Amino acid sequence: MNLILLGPPGAGKGTQAKLLIKRFQIPQISTGDILRAAVSEMTPMGVKAKGYMESGALVPDEVVVGIVRERLEKNDCLNGFILDGFPRTVAQADALKHMLVCMNMSIEHVVSMAVDKEELLQRITGRRTCRLCGKGYHVVFDPPSVSGRCDECSGELFQRDDDQEETMRKRLDVYEDQTAPLITYYENESLLRSIAGVGSIDDIQQRILSIIQGTHG
Ligand code: ADP
Ligand code: ADP
Ligand code: ZN
Repeated sequence: MNLILLGPPGAGKGTQAKLLIKRFQIPQISTGDILRAAVSEMTPMGVKAKGYMESGALVPDEVVVGIVRERLEKNDCLNGFILDGFPRTVAQADALKHMLVCMNMSIEHVVSMAVDKEELLQRITGRRTCRLCGKGYHVVFDPPSVSGRCDECSGELFQRDDDQEETMRKRLDVYEDQTAPLITYYENESLLRSIAGVGSIDDIQQRILSIIQGTHG
């Protein structure tokens, strides 16, 4: 099962990907997570990416395409993978298409998650992430049982720097300009499956599962 989760910042891609990887035992490939790890480890790539991420801009295509190529070549992707936050530009989508052909792989579904802007702003401002295991929470919509601590590993929860109001608005504009065109792109490839990204996390998971099981659009 090779899936792309497509949607604006805060749509719930990471939340849904984490549920899917548990169920299907396949890896989640989140370019955002990989880039944040590189920034905190101060690798050469992280040093290069930092400024773009802090300002809410996209990291250059060749950097993220390189990350994804390297990741897809690992053996654990042979049974399937979930791309979360990639591709984000038409150039990235084209690069992905070519690399998959070379690797004899293909995408089965692109699940597009639609959430309106007001809800996105509320979700992003309340987002918290576990420093140790990366699990996501929301202070109101999906709170941990102990405030500030991860349910799974007791790690400390933190707020991403780029989840502040101003950067977040910039990221939503960048999404509209550079990523939303991928909806038409994948419609033309007959891969697009659109769902409403609102409702409970479980309901949305069911919508995605019914697409995977072939009972939806
Ligand atoms: P969100 O989950 O809010 O959509 P991500 O964690 O996916 O955010 O991405 C955080 C930041 O990392 C982006 O604002 C961008 O700077 C960078 N980034 C992540 N994925 C990509 C990508 N595919 N192309 C370019 N930049 C990316
Ligand atoms: P993305 O990866 O698309 O940027 P996340 O999965 O990180 O989005 O979700 C953004 C925030 O919204 C998180 O704080 C998450 O807990 C919360 N969230 C996710 N799904 C829902 C939902 N269905 N209803 C309300 N809040 C949600
Ligand atoms: Zn944790």
